Amino acid sequence: MSYENLSGRTAVVTGAASGIGEAVALQLAAEDARVALLARRADRLQELVDKIRAGGGEALAVTADVTDDASVTAARDLVHETFGTVDLVVNNAGVMLPNPVTDGRLDEWQRMLDTNVTGALRIIRAFTADLVGAAGEGRTADLVNVSSIGAHLTFPNYAVYGATKAAVTHLSNNLRSELGPLDVRVTNIEPGLTETELATHIDSAELSGQLDGMLDAIGSLSAAEVADVVAYATSRPRHVNLRQIMVLPTRQA
Ligand code: NDP
Repeated sequence: MSYENLSGRTAVVTGAASGIGEAVALQLAAEDARVALLARRADRLQELVDKIRAGGGEALAVTADVTDDASVTAARDLVHETFGTVDLVVNNAGVMLPNPVTDGRLDEWQRMLDTNVTGALRIIRAFTADLVGAAGEGRTADLVNVSSIGAHLTFPNYAVYGATKAAVTHLSNNLRSELGPLDVRVTNIEPGLTETELATHIDSAELSGQLDGMLDAIGSLSAAEVADVVAYATSRPRHVNLRQIMVLPTRQA
């Protein structure tokens, strides 16, 4: 599927080394947007840059850790030096580390909060001026936050992950009240089960097996199917804001 209003845009996609972020970067590039790809794994980003360039697209690998202030500032500077200011930001980097609250895994809770919430805020801080500037010049400007159906579910072992995603959803809603009047769209996307590398970081065989069971029962979206929703939302005319999108496999309750 092809969409207008993405050609000539300049995008930053975090978590572009795999899964949903990789698929979003590929689709935006296919629609003739320039894409800056942020994640920690330089080799994976370079492979994706090579793939996009081979297809005639424009991409830049930006090795960055969203949990590190200096790294995000350096990433912003590199994007500006190479592409100038940006008008489309996809805040997608995230980790999901389920664990029983009785285990008290402060390390994993902290990692989820710092990546999924504060990481998203660092990216917002780095690029909001660009978005406001682009909108002020009459261009389309988008902030897309990738939250999760987990923002609304209660599920054993997923309390902290769900809390980080509820925070992202709430953040999107609130930011819209500030950025909407400045003509910057804020879109909150809440995917359901999607086939990516997200579950590979779960270190409990039992919890990993539980998720595999859900995938067998429910099926999953592909990362490209979620990316298609991001491309659809960001390619609408600039006065149309799909502010909240929940996209689930049909069998997921
Ligand atoms: P993946 O694990 O495939 O992708 C996560 C991406 O985030 C990777 O590119 C990873 O790259 C990057 N990342 C992780 N930590 C950092 C960091 N500190 N700094 C920079 N980049 C980081 O999973 P998904 O594609 O599924 O996840 C993307 C988003 O979608 C997440 O926010 C997730 O919560 C959300 N989501 C996923 C669902 C699913 O079922 N898969 C459902 C609902 C929401 P690297 O390791 O190289 O840094």
